Amino acid sequence: MWNSPKVGILGGGQLGRMLVESANRLNIQANILDADNSPAKQISSHDGHVTGSFKEPDAVRKLAETCDVITAEIEHVDTYALEEVASKVRVEPSWQAIRTIQNKFNQKEHLRKYGIPMAEHRELVNNTPEELAQIGEELGYPMMLKSKTMAYDGRGNFRVNSKEDIPEALEALKDRPLYSEKWAYFKMELAVMVIKTKDDVLSYPTVETVQEDSICKLVYAPARNVPDAINQQAQALARKAVSAFEGKGAFGVEMFLLEDNSLMLCELASRIHNSGHWTIEGCALSQFDSHIRAILDLPIPPKSLELLQPSIMLNIIGGATPDSHLKATEAALSIPNASIHLYSKGAAKPGRKMGHVTVTAATIHEAETMIQPLVDVVDTMRA
Ligand code: ATP
Ligand code: MG
Ligand code: MG
Repeated sequence: MWNSPKVGILGGGQLGRMLVESANRLNIQANILDADNSPAKQISSHDGHVTGSFKEPDAVRKLAETCDVITAEIEHVDTYALEEVASKVRVEPSWQAIRTIQNKFNQKEHLRKYGIPMAEHRELVNNTPEELAQIGEELGYPMMLKSKTMAYDGRGNFRVNSKEDIPEALEALKDRPLYSEKWAYFKMELAVMVIKTKDDVLSYPTVETVQEDSICKLVYAPARNVPDAINQQAQALARKAVSAFEGKGAFGVEMFLLEDNSLMLCELASRIHNSGHWTIEGCALSQFDSHIRAILDLPIPPKSLELLQPSIMLNIIGGATPDSHLKATEAALSIPNASIHLYSKGAAKPGRKMGHVTVTAATIHEAETMIQPLVDVVDTMRA
């Protein structure tokens, strides 16, 4: 057996919490850097945690002293602190990968060198209306104006439908570094979880993701009515994109499936990802199990990443009232084959991810029928 390695995790949100669940089952101590009552710390009782933020260099240094390998549940971390501690402790994935990926424009410039298909885009240098109007001439309308950094759940995106929207778009994303993307006319959004190990790049099956208000709402594994050839192409594209970065662990790759069945990368994340939550029930090893194993060089039999049973994941997102997620949970308790995961984040805020539910069944159609009553409940509670 291995020598009781300790893992340090930057961030103790729901992703950190689910990593802790996996680490716990292998008696691996996970030391969390985050606020004291963060969701991950609530389920992990030992004295190795560090209080503070993954954006404070001192706190990152302190965490590095407590563990054998450091990883992150979020890409918006201080990569200069990670660069510094990398001489003393392993950092997985590499700080270079996290630094490039956390800036979506740099991420895309990097991936372009590897021939990864993406929507055409332009960098804004001055963030002036004249500059964006010029870009609009080049890319056409609609286009998606995006913040290069600190983007999540679409908070950092603004759809510019015409020249008239330019002032509002620049106001909505003011003081942020920006780039603009040509509109992708997709018929479906796909995602693949990739696991990079010391000598392999593995992938989970391709899933279909459905975003509502730019937030992931539903994930279908496998993607509905997508031929196996596309499932394989999407996995190959995701592995190729992730191979462009150094380091081990889970990476989430989001893609667009266009009308002509070609694939385009939307973005990737250097971490476990919402589009992979279904793997907890749907596969022998979840994305969280695989991430822990990958960063510790423990074996990952590729067969353990195959789909065991069709699965649908529904996010429980904060709605119009602070207890809407609890009402959704109540409804989920009566759904057959539903596994409920609550993140213990306290009162819900509109748009905040409070938990998720995964329903498994013999066929994706059966799973759809079973989860539909819960989707209806969630839809009535939207903010
Ligand atoms: P995440 O929470 O996944 O990190 P994010 O805030 O980084 O999201 P993106 O993934 O870039 O944002 O975009 C969010 C959603 O907006 C996409 O899933 C897609 O539905 C839509 N979108 C993004 N870019 C485009 C585009 N170029 N054309 C059309 N739709 C787009
Ligand atoms: Mg993103
Ligand atoms: Mg995204």
